Amino acid sequence: MTDEPTSRPLPVPDAVSAPFWQAAACHELTMAQCGNCSTFSYPPDPVCLACGSFEPGWQFVPVSGKGRILSWTVVRQALIPGVADLLPYVTVDVELDEQPGLRMVARLLDGMDVPLALDDRVEACFEDLAPGVAVPAFRLADE
Ligand SMILES: [Zn+2]
Repeated sequence: MTDEPTSRPLPVPDAVSAPFWQAAACHELTMAQCGNCSTFSYPPDPVCLACGSFEPGWQFVPVSGKGRILSWTVVRQALIPGVADLLPYVTVDVELDEQPGLRMVARLLDGMDVPLALDDRVEACFEDLAPGVAVPAFRLADE
């Protein structure tokens, strides 16, 4: 992290997402897990889509952060404020190992010069944006 304040948008935690962002600040990836059926959801919905519980009692639990690339996009235009200095960059749609269909989209930090293929292995990492604020990202993994 540089000493310069970031111009990138920062997360705005709410009562539901606060545990996710607290863990992210410590570079730990968590996912919400239904207290009724143990299915992960990202982000957590008011109703568990797996078991139909209206009181899923979501608990954010640590996950491996490992997964495979389902798709990716090269971002060449700053469609949100504060990211112009990152252009171009890659975002990946990743299925995490913990559960089929548990998907998360985040920036890939390997840059533009690496060849990508479907099913490439990645692992979560974090970008420190401000003191106590980090956002998940991914890096290509060797496995
Ligand atoms: Zn459930």
